[in-house]
Amino acid sequence: VPFTETVMSRPLWISPSQNKWCDILMAKKAGLVNRHYHPHEVFAYTISGKWGYLEHEWTATAGDFVYETPGEGHTLVAYESDEPMKAIFQVKGPLVWLDENGNADGYFDVHDYIAMCKAHYEKMGFGADTITKLYR
Ligand code: FE
Repeated sequence: VPFTETVMSRPLWISPSQNKWCDILMAKKAGLVNRHYHPHEVFAYTISGKWGYLEHEWTATAGDFVYETPGEGHTLVAYESDEPMKAIFQVKGPLVWLDENGNADGYFDVHDYIAMCKAHYEKMGFGADTITKLYR
């Protein structure tokens, strides 16, 4: 499912009641997810490729675990690499988008995630309701 112009999401499971989801985030080339923060914790485990946050020096590669501290703004970057960037993410609660001044500028939570997946599944001919099989 296209998430941004350059980053895709493969849903693994979705919990509407806990506002939580787990997916494989993927970028075939250089990719970007705009600056945001999470009020809750987020965990990621890198499968392949190279990625990081503009706000930090580290680069995650295969096997690297990343913990996103609640409340800390970050901009996800997938770097050019021989392999696609793939990481398993477990996201709880919303992403709160941040503008250039660091102020909240909208949000994206499990309900937006479901709507995004449904629209794409429908468009691809799988049927929007296919996504409900991933509800946990
Ligand atoms: Fe994040």
